[in-house]
Amino acid sequence: MEKTWKPGDPMRLTMDQIKISKQVTCDCGSAMFSEKLMFKRISSIISPSGREELYPMQVVVCESCGKVPTEFNPYGLIPEEFLANN
Ligand SMILES: [Zn+2]
Repeated sequence: MEKTWKPGDPMRLTMDQIKISKQVTCDCGSAMFSEKLMFKRISSIISPSGREELYPMQVVVCESCGKVPTEFNPYGLIPEEFLANN
């Protein structure tokens, strides 16, 4: 039986398979993105250390409009005002 790919598994693709795949674009039409960091302030009440901590989150932003395409917000952690469809 052929093993099916799951998110998190390394993906092995041929150049042709990549070539025929749909380009990811932002709602503004741009297809260029860069990685940035956002931080959440973790309150001392819920922080494992018992102190206020900064929690870094790696986010992908559009090079053109500076917003985060919804495709790059799978866990819904990015506030609405930073999303591209807003
Ligand atoms: Zn954009």
